[in-house]
Amino acid sequence: MKFDGRMAVVSGAGSGIGRATASLLAARGAAVAAIDIDETAAKETARMISDAGGRGAGYGADVASAKALDAAVSAAIRDLGALEMMFNNAGILDGYFNVDEFDEAAWRRVIDIDLTGVFLACKRGLAEMLPAGRGRIVNMASVAGLGGTGGGAAYVAAKHGVIGLTRQMAVTYAARGLRLNCICPGVIPTGLRTHSQSILGPGVPDMSGRGIAVNDEQIRATVPAGGRGTVDDIAEAVCWLLSDEAAYVNGHALVVDGGWRAK
Ligand code: NAD
Repeated sequence: MKFDGRMAVVSGAGSGIGRATASLLAARGAAVAAIDIDETAAKETARMISDAGGRGAGYGADVASAKALDAAVSAAIRDLGALEMMFNNAGILDGYFNVDEFDEAAWRRVIDIDLTGVFLACKRGLAEMLPAGRGRIVNMASVAGLGGTGGGAAYVAAKHGVIGLTRQMAVTYAARGLRLNCICPGVIPTGLRTHSQSILGPGVPDMSGRGIAVNDEQIRATVPAGGRGTVDDIAEAVCWLLSDEAAYVNGHALVVDGGWRAK
């Protein structure tokens, strides 16, 4: 799997799965634009890439803002070259809150980031990829996109939406040289809960301790593999979906969850 001479935009690249994937793509030769709402974290990922001998640049942007996203992607193209790959990964958890517990503003913010953010990023990417006649996109879904667990109402709805959106685009754009897939991770330890609480801000109840898989016993009961996955497990799968080796894989929702959804 080599990405020499190709440029990739990775959102939510300041932490967790996004940072691991940005680093792996860069280690395999891609020039990587790390975008995050936390600009300092995005720039830190770019610095880690440079320190490891790769080519990276960091940009601050909220993926729910078309204007901010456009500015970041345009800067990445200027700095790193033509856009050929995207991993639209930025997202937040909704704290496992149900409809009767969640207010409209919090619902809208989760949908804006987790679903509309993916739409906006794809739209910006397509503006480069369709004229070029080539491009690969991986969108971040979740096992929560495949059933009624793994998140609260807004998160489950958004992740189902990401899978549907990805399939619609895969069907529409395959004949024009594009491949679009999504990834459905299971339980991966990251900063997701902490970051989500702070991005949603005051007014959203405390998320700690909510939901499944908050302790080892619950994980063993939920995941056939008996433990959590790692950010590297997901980064490897995303790199494969973006690679030449997956040339005939299109419109797929790749589950990487230790067997949870197989139950
Ligand atoms: P993380 O919090 O470690 O990383 C997410 C990054 O996205 C953070 O750096 C955050 O600042 C950034 N971000 C959040 N909102 C943003 C916005 N509006 N604009 C730009 N950047 C934004 O969490 P993670 O687990 O690495 O999450 C990455 C993605 O993986 C999310 O979409 C999440 O829903 C998905 N996911 C995670 C798991 C898991 O178990 N960790 C499982 C399935 C899916």
